[in-house]
Amino acid sequence: MSKASAFQAVTDCFQHAADQLGLGDATRELLAGTYREIRVQVPLRLANGTVRTVYGYRVQHNGARGPYKGGVRFHQDADLDEVRALAALMTWKTALIDVPFGGAKGGVQVDPSELSETEVERMTRRYLSQVSYVIGERRDIMAPDMNTSAQTMAWMMDEYGRKSGHTPAIVTGKPVELGGSYGREAATGRGTVIVLGKAAADHGWDAADTTIAIQGYGNVGSWAARLAAAEGFRVVAVSDVRGGIYAPDGLDLDAVDQHLRQSGSVVGTPGTDTIGNDELLTLDVTVLVPAALGGVINSDNADQIRASLILEAANHPVTPEADSILADRGVEVLPDILVNAGGVTVSYFEWTQNLQEFKWTEDQVNEQLRRQMVAAYRSVKDRAEQNGKITPRQAAFQISVERVASAAKLRGYL
Ligand code: NAD
Repeated sequence: MSKASAFQAVTDCFQHAADQLGLGDATRELLAGTYREIRVQVPLRLANGTVRTVYGYRVQHNGARGPYKGGVRFHQDADLDEVRALAALMTWKTALIDVPFGGAKGGVQVDPSELSETEVERMTRRYLSQVSYVIGERRDIMAPDMNTSAQTMAWMMDEYGRKSGHTPAIVTGKPVELGGSYGREAATGRGTVIVLGKAAADHGWDAADTTIAIQGYGNVGSWAARLAAAEGFRVVAVSDVRGGIYAPDGLDLDAVDQHLRQSGSVVGTPGTDTIGNDELLTLDVTVLVPAALGGVINSDNADQIRASLILEAANHPVTPEADSILADRGVEVLPDILVNAGGVTVSYFEWTQNLQEFKWTEDQVNEQLRRQMVAAYRSVKDRAEQNGKITPRQAAFQISVERVASAAKLRGYL
């Protein structure tokens, strides 16, 4: 999906919910726009002594429900439009999962693979310091995203602390040694599998007969695969950027992990057939989990999807055109703002642990995550069923928009 259409897709979902909820013009205008958008220059001294100037962004979409919250990505495509779309998505995601945050996103428009680790560290510190006047542990909290990691968060926390003193709650997704939460790494995949379990139960599917194909075997996809298999589901296909693998009786995930460690790809794992990434999407499986890129299920392939349920573990994997085709064909799509909300939920737990200076056990984190995911799943399904003809995505946006609009009204913005 192009960047413009990613933003358009989020805006369309919001506008559709606003129509259905009968939101007035003033509320619509407030929620469609962003609170603050900043662009900063990030001059970067390279190892060869030259200086290169790159641009960084932080967009705060809406903070009616709590401090702004959202990741920072380092990517050549991370321009203001993309960051703006992702910031809005965070507002709707945090509202749906019901954590007391608003929505934000940040980015530095650079290909970090062109930089050494020292250059990336210098750039991270400079970006953080340039945006430091709009962030704060009770104002705007950052997190990892594309090409940023726990290490990036550690540098950010350290840089912020130089002026403000030790402030671990300024970022989430930190290393556990520096105040990160147990369970954060697995959280998005775990949340996906919690939703899978509830959906399978609602459909009356037996786990052992429920076959699953997962596109993407990174953080989200690999945890989703492992945890789904541990619950007895049959994971028959996974893929990465080099291609996919298929074993109709179920993959041996230990063998997949071992092959990935040795070769850098899942492709070629002994005992599996090699398939293409496009082929994976149209396999005859019960559940399809796109967990890599946006826009992969679109008007070109939506009529060939054979799964009964799609779980959007990636952000925007199903385009709006594909969404209507799938709805007409009776394929259920559970939306990204529900399915992949486990990450921001455990980020919220990390933030609360940092503010309280008290560490939870992994069991506490996982149990609380389960409660939050199940409640959000139920609210989406109930809303979709009550309203008869709306999709789970429309139901999810209605709930989110209603919550944010209500908070904005109570604060006296409207
Ligand atoms: P990751 O970088 O760890 O993994 C991405 C995976 O996708 C890798 O296996 C990679 O090889 C594969 N991939 C890349 N290009 C591909 C292609 N063209 N075809 C097929 N596979 C391809 O990323 P991640 O953290 O697992 O995130 C995956 C998706 O989930 C992204 O859309 C991200 O925005 C979304 N997401 C992640 C989190 C989180 O907590 N990590 C939270 C919410 C949403």
